[in-house]
Amino acid sequence: MIMNAMTRNVIIVGAGPAGLGQALALKRAGIPDVLILDARGIGASFRAWPQETRLLTPSFPSQAYGCPDLNSVFPEASPADRFVCEHISGPQYADWLNQEARRAGLDVACPVHVKAVDREDGLFELDTDQGMFRCRVLVWATGEFFFPSRHEYPGAELCVHYADVKSWRDCEGDQLLVIGGAESGIDAACNLIALGKKVTVLDRGGAWMEEQGDPSLVLSPHTRTRFRAALDSGRLRMVPDVSVVRVGDHGDGFRVYGQDGQSFACDGPPISCIGFVGGASQIRDLWAWRNGQVLLTPEDESTLTPGLFLAGPQVRQPGEIFCFIYKFRTRFDIVCHAISQRLRENESVPHLESFASHASGV
Ligand SMILES: Cc1cc2nc3c(=O)[nH]c(=O)nc-3n(C[C@H](O)[C@H](O)[C@H](O)COP(=O)(O)OP(=O)(O)OC[C@H]3O[C@@H](n4cnc5c(N)ncnc54)[C@H](O)[C@@H]3O)c2cc1C
Repeated sequence: MIMNAMTRNVIIVGAGPAGLGQALALKRAGIPDVLILDARGIGASFRAWPQETRLLTPSFPSQAYGCPDLNSVFPEASPADRFVCEHISGPQYADWLNQEARRAGLDVACPVHVKAVDREDGLFELDTDQGMFRCRVLVWATGEFFFPSRHEYPGAELCVHYADVKSWRDCEGDQLLVIGGAESGIDAACNLIALGKKVTVLDRGGAWMEEQGDPSLVLSPHTRTRFRAALDSGRLRMVPDVSVVRVGDHGDGFRVYGQDGQSFACDGPPISCIGFVGGASQIRDLWAWRNGQVLLTPEDESTLTPGLFLAGPQVRQPGEIFCFIYKFRTRFDIVCHAISQRLRENESVPHLESFASHASGV
């Protein structure tokens, strides 16, 4: 039975690493009455990954020396300690998140699907499939994976999106096209090459050509290593500067058309790796947007809706993309501090002195 009648100080929607890590930071800062809601369960997006996908950021148990594991949002714990593996699978990571959330005593209610959010008299009202929840401050940590980008061009519905693949073994055809040449596109290509397929990757730019830079913009070292091996197979072709305008089904196969009249054939549905619109789109009207990105204050609060914060890979600050765990966890203390101020305005928490520097420990 989920207790939803009372008004909570803080509700966090999403029990992935962003929501859990933010909740832990709030707990350590002494902010009482924080509830996490999730439609599917702790770490659900990692369980939904294709079976072959591994975390590309390595895990290493370095936390005892003041250097938390890159994949940790529980700074004293490392998934590598439990699995003795650098690149763990999605289900392993989800198991680890469950274990650590329990150990930390976080208050998680699931399954609770938040269908809509309203703001009335300074309170957020969350309309869910388990009734109405209310809170003073809302943290939106709904991730990206369950919100793929699907409708970019006519015929997109003929493609299989990365987020729909259960295992690369299920992909039909021997000569395949992957649309998108960033992390997920190269991951798809490497897995298909390992299965003996011929693969052509189309990309409107050519992210794989940049050797160095921010891993949010160029391939991560782990992916680059796998990519080189896939190229060595002789079955992987990379085609830059193709903006896909249409996909067609021709009965005996599919054809993908580019902007200059070029076209590319494949004998199974094209694999779409064009990214994600992200979960912030679920409450689109509560944010201001520019070029598909949510506009935030320097404390990751909505510029339109006071008391609403964004956590996770959709967070952007000028010149910064926080799409990895080791990146977005650096925001937890900043958000924590801003939330305590909001609650103080509401007189919901006692005055807390300078907790923020050690609230999250990361
Ligand atoms: C294939 C792939 C590989 C990746 N590999 C790495 C990696 O190696 N290292 C790394 O740092 N990052 C990696 N990332 C990025 C990674 O997904 C994110 O860093 C991480 O999942 C984001 O965590 P999150 O908590 O924001 O979102 P999620 O883990 O997606 O959690 C969001 C949660 O919100 C819930 N939810 C959504 N909407 C609602 C709603 N309306 N009501 C209730 N609950 C809701 C979902 O059920 C879900 O459990 C990868 C991403 C992908 C897609």
